[in-house]
Amino acid sequence: MARHPSQLLNPVMAELEEYTPIQPFEVLSRELDIPSERIVKLDANENPYGPPQVVLDALAEYPYYHIYPDPQQTELREAIARRYGVPFDQLVVGSGADELLDYICRMFLAAGDAIVDLPPTFGMYTFDARLVGAAVHSVPRREDYTIDVDAVARTVRDAQEAGQSPVKLVFATSPNNPTGTWMEDRELERLLELPTMVVLDEAYVDFAHRPSRLDWVIRHDNLIVLRTFSKALGIAGLRLGFGVFPEWLLPTFWKFKQPYNVTAAAMAAGIASLAHYEVIEDVTRRMRAGRDHLFQELTAISFLRPYPSQGNFVLCRVVEGDAHAIWRRLRTQGILVRYYNKPMLEDCLRFSVGRGEQVRRLIDALRGMEGQV
Ligand code: PMP
Repeated sequence: MARHPSQLLNPVMAELEEYTPIQPFEVLSRELDIPSERIVKLDANENPYGPPQVVLDALAEYPYYHIYPDPQQTELREAIARRYGVPFDQLVVGSGADELLDYICRMFLAAGDAIVDLPPTFGMYTFDARLVGAAVHSVPRREDYTIDVDAVARTVRDAQEAGQSPVKLVFATSPNNPTGTWMEDRELERLLELPTMVVLDEAYVDFAHRPSRLDWVIRHDNLIVLRTFSKALGIAGLRLGFGVFPEWLLPTFWKFKQPYNVTAAAMAAGIASLAHYEVIEDVTRRMRAGRDHLFQELTAISFLRPYPSQGNFVLCRVVEGDAHAIWRRLRTQGILVRYYNKPMLEDCLRFSVGRGEQVRRLIDALRGMEGQV
């Protein structure tokens, strides 16, 4: 054979930047020689309480794991439609919001198209867009991490006028990860006036003091809103997310999607969570109060400057000392947090909201570093 088989790969593969996943905590537990139950995992915005017992019972009792799951996820979609007051026909379910982000990119983008990304934000939008060979126009947020809507409008218009890659998707996240910033209604309204699709990622909206905009999809045929069961609903490991799509997009979605994209276990857990939503709301309230408490505690640490957050996490700028050294010292004590060193997030650490005793260990460890960073 004249060519090496690696030359058969899609050329886009060579351009891909590697995605750095979170280190599994079982691996870390071995590496640090700390038992996994002693590890304080505050690095991935998970729900530290896990799913309610009723969800675990539903998983144990589900009788049909030997049968392929419902490709239309009918029962789960009915439960979501009832709980959130959205039309059943416009609801789609995925193996995490991540899967829906991937589907959206592949349904809209071909090589030569473009997206607008609003950094600093969640990394999967650019990752999925680049996977299909699309260009990414980055429109950085302002210093307070709000969106510069004028700059987005200019970017979309300039790309159109220059006859370059048309911008097809704008990804907006509210509350934003990792900054916790809320996007105001008027900002979303202005984005929706642009000749693009707007994907509003509401992964953390349950923790906000403001309402979801799921129902906006009914009034806007260029809006998609995404939600997840990984955060407030506590089943990140089962992979479950949903979206409300505009009506015209549904026939394409149903042709496009993998038939068995959501497992029977994820569906059983999702249905049980929604049937006992008062337990979920209770945990969400606790996490919201936990976030406000964590913010207060972090404000009192002299070398950190926390940003107000509407998510289940708080981003902090390290204003004295070395952020990476602090991250490393926490890690040796079995406390995992997220360290950033990219544009607009220089010297930043992000702390997810943990259970009471986890937050106490974090704060004690940070207090122990006072005067020595
Ligand atoms: N959107 C945002 C903003 C996120 O932070 C995350 C997960 N960290 C996701 C989506 C992915 O959610 P899921 O677990 O449902 O794939």
